[in-house]
Amino acid sequence: MDAGLGAAERPRGLGKSLCVITGASRGLGRALAVVLAPRLQPGSRLVLVARSGRCLLELEGQLLGAAGPAGGLRVSRVEADLAGGEGLQRLLAEVSRLREVDGAPDRLLLINNAGTLGNVSKFVVDFTEPAEVNSYLALNFTSPMCLTASLLKAFPKRENFLRMVVNISSLCALQPHKSWALYCAAKAARDMLFSVLAVEEPDVRVLNYAPGPLDTEMQQQARCETADTELRQSFINLHQEGKLVDSNVSATKLVNMLILNEFQSGAHIDYYDQ
Ligand code: NDP
Repeated sequence: MDAGLGAAERPRGLGKSLCVITGASRGLGRALAVVLAPRLQPGSRLVLVARSGRCLLELEGQLLGAAGPAGGLRVSRVEADLAGGEGLQRLLAEVSRLREVDGAPDRLLLINNAGTLGNVSKFVVDFTEPAEVNSYLALNFTSPMCLTASLLKAFPKRENFLRMVVNISSLCALQPHKSWALYCAAKAARDMLFSVLAVEEPDVRVLNYAPGPLDTEMQQQARCETADTELRQSFINLHQEGKLVDSNVSATKLVNMLILNEFQSGAHIDYYDQ
């Protein structure tokens, strides 16, 4: 890939891809796997990562069942806690093993989706314990940074090889939300991190995608635990009025954007953007 290529000249489609999705056990990550799988060329490999091995196993069964034996899709599960270095190492070891088994892919797609809301029952002035803040950032900032860096190093730039990295972002990266300090700060930091990556590595296609308010476990926590009354009520209203976005619909929008490959690298694109 040449950084100078115009939108019309960039390769479209996903080709024979190696796709890594973190947080694939439920919610948006799971939906992304379901939407991506049938769009991948035979010989592609989908690597599903999360702590819950049972959910990953179920998802693998669903994906392989839908693809059928002729589908040519290969799925791997990595049960790992990405908040720690050991989980990251396990994932990297598996990806390196797969490269030997599968050979070099035409595309690398990393979707940094795993995330947590953190403690939303407190306000900024309540966060006096460095360990609590550091532990939140370990999963929500450090892990996507080190995973992205490690995969880009393991799969360096080469001719006719397209590397794409997605940061699952949020409106919270752009707008402050009371009692969501950890979440907003980490999402803002991640957006900037991936924007820096886009300018440092012009051949890598980088996208910060805000998926909209999704009907997932994270939203449930937002409705129950948000300390700020007004914000908590706004989530309750979204739920009661049926205004939450279906994860499959948001996942489809993202996958279509990746296939079209027309976005500006490093951009923040929201589900609601045209
Ligand atoms: P869910 O809570 O439903 O799913 C979170 C996923 O992250 C799960 O698969 C979970 O798997 C995984 N995960 C959590 N902790 C770890 C860990 N320590 N190690 C590895 N994996 C982990 O969240 P959503 O699907 O709602 O959110 C997905 C992404 O979308 C997040 O980045 C979120 O910030 C973002 N987003 C969500 C919105 C929403 O309204 N829900 C709105 C905007 C952005 P397991 O527990 O098995 O490890």
